Amino acid sequence: MCAAHMEPNGWEEGFLFIGNRPILDFLNTNLVLEQAPKELLPDFDSLARWLVTTDIVNSSKLESRVRSWRGSREASAFLKELLAFRERLREVVLSMESGSGIPDEFVKELNKRLADYPSRAVLRKRGGRLVVEMLFDPEKPADLWAPFIHGAADLLAETETHRLRQCESCVVHFYDTSKKGSRRWCRMNICGNKIKVAAYQRRKRAGKAH
Ligand SMILES: [Zn+2]
Repeated sequence: MCAAHMEPNGWEEGFLFIGNRPILDFLNTNLVLEQAPKELLPDFDSLARWLVTTDIVNSSKLESRVRSWRGSREASAFLKELLAFRERLREVVLSMESGSGIPDEFVKELNKRLADYPSRAVLRKRGGRLVVEMLFDPEKPADLWAPFIHGAADLLAETETHRLRQCESCVVHFYDTSKKGSRRWCRMNICGNKIKVAAYQRRKRAGKAH
């Protein structure tokens, strides 16, 4: 498990951002911390905070609109469905990581939601040049599906699957963007060290036995 709350390394506002893809960071909102399962999105308020921290909700106008939905029945229903979707996506990611295929059922589910929440593009000026961005202007809680569905679709379609990985020491998933493609841990200073220390102790014990 990845211990330590609020590490400067990868943690922001109580969420972990080391997946290299927002959709994987979303997957990593359900963790094991200090040997216990930890839900980082227990309520709609935390989801709103996550959306702001990831910059999916990127204006104060949008932020107040999203926050105004908290406590509504629609918002709770959306969160419940979204978290169930997250766990279905986790199964699919695990399947991709193990080299198995993507279940047709899940593709069908994504296609249905892609049709319900189509992507709208907009040209924006960023740093003196134009970039195409997804226009995200949710008017009700269910409209929040869009970034999750499109993020999942991109992950399934455009990812070099061999770079999609689960940390060797914990439940965290990430997309390996390193040049060599040999990243094994969510964070070297936590999980990497833990594995190295364990291996060292194993060797030491083995050495003593002889
Ligand atoms: Zn880890």
